[in-house]
Amino acid sequence: MTPDRYAVIGNPIAHSKSPFIHTLFAEQTGQAMTYERILAPLDGFRETVLRFRAEGGRGMNVTVPFKLEAAELCDRLSGRAARAGAVNTLIFHADGTIEGDNTDGAGLVRDLLGHGVPLEGQRVLILGAGGAVRGVLAPLLAERPAALVIANRTADKAEQLAADFADLGPVHGCGFEALAGPFDLIINGTSASLTGELPPLPDDLLGKGAVAYDMAYGSEPTPFQRWAQAHGARLALDGLGMLVEQAAESFYRWRGVRPDTAPVRQALGASHTA
Ligand code: NDP
Repeated sequence: MTPDRYAVIGNPIAHSKSPFIHTLFAEQTGQAMTYERILAPLDGFRETVLRFRAEGGRGMNVTVPFKLEAAELCDRLSGRAARAGAVNTLIFHADGTIEGDNTDGAGLVRDLLGHGVPLEGQRVLILGAGGAVRGVLAPLLAERPAALVIANRTADKAEQLAADFADLGPVHGCGFEALAGPFDLIINGTSASLTGELPPLPDDLLGKGAVAYDMAYGSEPTPFQRWAQAHGARLALDGLGMLVEQAAESFYRWRGVRPDTAPVRQALGASHTA
């Protein structure tokens, strides 16, 4: 039997760890499938997806910069993808339709809860107001935090995002200068870490026993993780666990089987969950 084909599509794509992760999931669960990397031209996302499907592809992950375009391409969206306005998982159904899902937020929440980081009743701050933050707001609010503050360099974008999600819970948007702590959990969803930068944060943001989480990851702790450690965070996590957990959620949507993420996290050197 020919294995089913899956792929991750983006630009750039060479750095993606998704083929490694999904190949381990497939081996572990005995699923007959392959998973490759596909570089799409910046003006050729749609054509590249449709070609992969025509060649027998069953589904794709979508990464930077195509998550918004992916949402437009789909015939239908899951509730969480519609809320996010962005898609990271394409499912090619047998009837010829394409469904879009967004598993990033579920991945973040699962990683946090797996590390024993509570969300219910907590004061949560999220930095940034780009695609990644939009994608995780609904799953975070579903965990019923006491307050969710979105702070962004461009304050208008944080305020708009908060207004868009206000029906789901107590969410508020502001600029960095208006920030007042303490918070129980601070999530960095800016892309500042990718250029070795740190958003301008007041010193007293972290409450006693607070946790810091950077959605970015690398071989070294990010500037935000270092800032958090220097300011008394109990735990300063990076986004590698989120990456593995969102992949597991996509795998589940495609194959109906939930892989064990622990050995894959270990193989990648991600921090252990509780
Ligand atoms: P976007 O380009 O959509 O948004 C970038 C955001 O970062 C904006 O809010 C921008 O502010 C802010 N920003 C950029 N540079 C700085 C800076 N120097 N100081 C302060 N704020 C800054 O990016 P994404 O939302 O797609 O990605 C954000 C991060 O999330 C990336 O690090 C990405 O790698 C990570 N990510 C991780 C995932 C995982 O599985 N672990 C999944 C998805 C994303 P402004 O609006 O003012 O420009």
